[in-house]
Amino acid sequence: MRIVLLGPPGAGKGTQAKLIVTQFKIAHISTGDIMREAIAKSTPLGSQAKSFMDKGELVPDSIVIDLIKDRLVQPDCAMGFLLDGFPRTVAQAEALDKLLVNLNKSLTHVVKLSVSDDVLVDRILRRGTIGGRSDDSLAVIKNRLKVYNDQTKPVVDYYDNKRCLIDLNGLGTVEEVQARILAAVKAGR
Ligand code: AMP
Repeated sequence: MRIVLLGPPGAGKGTQAKLIVTQFKIAHISTGDIMREAIAKSTPLGSQAKSFMDKGELVPDSIVIDLIKDRLVQPDCAMGFLLDGFPRTVAQAEALDKLLVNLNKSLTHVVKLSVSDDVLVDRILRRGTIGGRSDDSLAVIKNRLKVYNDQTKPVVDYYDNKRCLIDLNGLGTVEEVQARILAAVKAGR
């Protein structure tokens, strides 16, 4: 199983991703988590990514694509993986297609969680109070939503045009959304 999970910031991707990878015993690849860890460890990747992340901007494609290229060949990806937060631009989606061709693999599901903007802002502000993520302040959230609309929505269209997009309602309890995802993934639509 090789899944891409798409959706705006605050749609519940991270929470749902953790549940899905446990259920299917596949690797969880969150580009945001990898870069937050790199920042915490003060690695070169961390210092390259930090200023973009703090502003709610996307980290440049070349950096993120290299990161994914290295990650997809790790042994734990052999049984499958879920990409959470990647691809976020059409260039990343195209690069992913090429990487997968080289690995003789293809995506099995592209799932998008849809949630309206006002609910998103509310959810992210709450997450900022609880988890203390530095990019969860109101100004940065607004920019992240703008960046999503400008740069990541075309990725949704990219997969929709390939007729492989599963668009799901992201509203409801964690369990309700999880059940929707599992049913759709199992049904292959
Ligand atoms: P996330 O944890 O997925 O919400 O990502 C947090 C931040 O990390 C984003 O606002 C971006 O600055 C950066 N980021 C994560 N994934 C990507 C990606 N695929 N491309 C560019 N920037 C990314």
